[in-house]
Amino acid sequence: MSNGSCVVIVGSQWGDEGKGKIVDVLAEEIDIVARYQGGANAGHTVHVGDDEFILHQIPSGILHPDRTCLLGNGVVFDPFQFFEELDEIRAKVPDAEQRVGVSGRAHLLLYYHKLLDRAAEASRGAGKIGTTGRGIGPAYEDKVARQGIRVADLRDAERAEQLLRRAAERINRKLESLDSAEKVDADLLVRDVMGVRERLLKLTVDTGRVIQDALNAGKRVLLEGAQGALLDVDHGTYPYVTSSNTTAGGAGLGVGIGPTMIDDVVGVVKAYTTRVGEGPLPTEFPSPLQEEIREKGGEFGATTGRPRRCGWFDAVVVRYAALVNGLTGLAVTKLDVLDGLEELKIATRYQAGGGTLDDFPGDLALLEDAKPEYESLPGWSEKTSEARRWEDLPEAAHRYLRRLEELTGVPIWYVSVGTRRDQIIHVKR
Ligand code: GDP
Repeated sequence: MSNGSCVVIVGSQWGDEGKGKIVDVLAEEIDIVARYQGGANAGHTVHVGDDEFILHQIPSGILHPDRTCLLGNGVVFDPFQFFEELDEIRAKVPDAEQRVGVSGRAHLLLYYHKLLDRAAEASRGAGKIGTTGRGIGPAYEDKVARQGIRVADLRDAERAEQLLRRAAERINRKLESLDSAEKVDADLLVRDVMGVRERLLKLTVDTGRVIQDALNAGKRVLLEGAQGALLDVDHGTYPYVTSSNTTAGGAGLGVGIGPTMIDDVVGVVKAYTTRVGEGPLPTEFPSPLQEEIREKGGEFGATTGRPRRCGWFDAVVVRYAALVNGLTGLAVTKLDVLDGLEELKIATRYQAGGGTLDDFPGDLALLEDAKPEYESLPGWSEKTSEARRWEDLPEAAHRYLRRLEELTGVPIWYVSVGTRRDQIIHVKR
């Protein structure tokens, strides 16, 4: 397991790997948890005792006493959703607001981004990307086009109002060009944003500075990724990707520290594969295994409720995730979902374009054509959900997990066998 002071946790498939649970487990030993990219589309589900928390923006570390939780500059920040979430958490965790910080450099995601998101997706017709409609893409577009509004821009109220009114005009022109019947009401926009302005400014910090000071003081920091490696805007299955760098390289960038400060990168993977939305999934299960695993694994989006597509573990994908993230350890989740299967398959490489591919292709056409080559291993009939040590797992599970290590080249540090915090195995070597 990780001994580093600054650890990045990244999804190493197509998202929903159970990062929330792993971050929650690791937060026991961590002082600061920071998000570095994405927006309110993250949707981590964390179970503490009998309480279930669905966290969209605030890092799950908030559920642990005394932890500081930060939202870095790389995040697109939805203030309304954020405060709604914070108020819900405060009902159970009264000091939550004192332990949250938001980068002044983070871009605001406002409701007009959601209008644009839906209008743009509707205009794509058959070429849909499958976005969650939460405005993440348009907010990043504004950022890169240098017309976004940042948290720090709210300091001067008069200037903030000007920026908001200018944005409303611009967005209305754009909505019209997309044939959308919706319009931004500038007065309402200004009223709403001004309504949260002071509360937000009190939470504003320089996340890079806070993290650097903490590391210098010997504290431990965890940088929490959202989505997964294959949804990275550069390294994912473009264009079926999210709009930010989800991979470890985005971590330092998205909170304001340099790459040399990062010690470990833990890749979270399910013991199988899932993906939500459009785009290729080479190891997709046939029916009825598809429905069986979906039900057993509760594979429905935490934010959208959309059913996830499920498939066998794809070692080509995770090998690639290891490469682009520089993974130092793996956390394998949902092993318990595979209990009772007679046979388990692992994709080791693809047949595509008339040849054999060991590496995940950058060309989507090749991926669409890819036929996985499978290796077959025996399953186990025992229930793994009570296992707390490596030795408690059945022999066939050891074989399966060891094979995942060999095929991906990354040691397994954690195995998760259920939704609860205590259902975790720290793999010791
Ligand atoms: P995240 O965004 O990567 O955190 O993933 P989600 O929260 O969307 O999905 C993870 C879901 O799987 C949550 O409902 C978790 O409670 C659940 N989960 C996490 N680890 C395990 C596990 O080891 N076994 C089972 N059965 N469920 C798990």
